[in-house]
Amino acid sequence: MQTGMSRAIVVIVLASLSLSSASTMVSAQISQPDIIQEHWYHSYATLTLDVNDWADNNPDIVNLLSVGQSELGRELWVLQISDWSVENKSDGSEKDVVFIDGGHHGNEHLGTELAFITAEYYIEGWSDGDQEVIEILQNTELHILIMLNPDGNDLDTRWNINQVDLNRNYDHFWNNCPPNNPTQPGSGPFSESETLANSIYMNDVVPDADLYITMHTGVWIMLYPWGRWPDQPSDWELFHHMREDINDNISDIPIRNANQGLYPNCGTSRDYGYGVMGYPTFTFETDDEQFLLGTVEALSDRLDEEMDVMKYLIKNVWYWRARLVVEDLEIGENEIIARVVNHGHASTSNATFHYYNTQGEVIWHSENFGVNATNESILSLDSRNLSLIEDGYWSIHYQKRVIDASQWVEESINNSKIVVKSSEGKFTPTPSISILLVALIAASIIGRKEE
Ligand SMILES: [Zn+2]
Repeated sequence: MQTGMSRAIVVIVLASLSLSSASTMVSAQISQPDIIQEHWYHSYATLTLDVNDWADNNPDIVNLLSVGQSELGRELWVLQISDWSVENKSDGSEKDVVFIDGGHHGNEHLGTELAFITAEYYIEGWSDGDQEVIEILQNTELHILIMLNPDGNDLDTRWNINQVDLNRNYDHFWNNCPPNNPTQPGSGPFSESETLANSIYMNDVVPDADLYITMHTGVWIMLYPWGRWPDQPSDWELFHHMREDINDNISDIPIRNANQGLYPNCGTSRDYGYGVMGYPTFTFETDDEQFLLGTVEALSDRLDEEMDVMKYLIKNVWYWRARLVVEDLEIGENEIIARVVNHGHASTSNATFHYYNTQGEVIWHSENFGVNATNESILSLDSRNLSLIEDGYWSIHYQKRVIDASQWVEESINNSKIVVKSSEGKFTPTPSISILLVALIAASIIGRKEE
């Protein structure tokens, strides 16, 4: 949110208190005591102590790395939280990936604290033996960059040190908003070290994330894409499903398209995350207060409801994409009849069936088809130019979501679901096909492809 208010002397006093308490704690080598932790927003110094403390005390679940530096040379810390003793889920599939950042705007402390207490909830839950947390960390990787703008945070200002609004500096319709909505987007996309580091992390480390939440403070609201346009995003079904679930069961927090819910905004991390990376993304605006450095109510109480929303979004990350399972594939002379179930809450379009030879080459693919979210579709596809071969095998190739940028996946089709209607000229199945398919299914996922 935009700030337009000047600060009172008391804030300066609070800020200097904050700095002196931080330096005391540096020399004592301890992190913020609970009484401060719960009521005092983090400075860069106290955050640095806390994240290092977590990494030192929880090496089994916490990796701490610096993914770059702010314009003034402060480290941009990322916590990678998961059960690192296991690489994959127990069924062999890859863990789900969640990416969270906070503190784009240095004066939006409550948002930064929501990123902090999200990390804290999972780290402490693991230590306390909380069964649900343990299960989530066995199946999920959380990547949390709590404070993206440490220079602005310690100056209690929206901007970074170059007076740039970091949440207008991303390479997605950068500086492209209507002239009646002026911003300070920087000299070009990713001109600032903070946003550049964040985008490199997205592209290099978490390109396959199925959830990205960016924490802010302002009007109490959750915003999904787009900021650039008033139109609903291609994956509106997914966002509306999440909204209904949250509003029916957890919180009354308004959940809206960012352009309509707030105001037109361009070059945001949310629109970049969705439009370029293909993640489902939300801006989480925690509260209508951004002008204080501390809170009378304990943070964990104050952000209780927001944490319930976060827990829901993280626990259900498996559903935030299309999850196609081919239940029947009947191959006939002229058509393929397929029954495809989507267990995920996102629709997909442009899916195809691929048919491979034993060299791993696609020798036939079906026409494109779409499958709606949480749905079962019966498809009829042209198979007239399909020639079956000995030892050929099948997969389904599709995007996790409708948005163009979303990741492609390719998953093998269980042989027991394939029926070839005996007919002249198509082919005769041999026993070796089923052996090969069993081996393929064991390998589970063939791999993914970019388009
Ligand atoms: Zn903000």
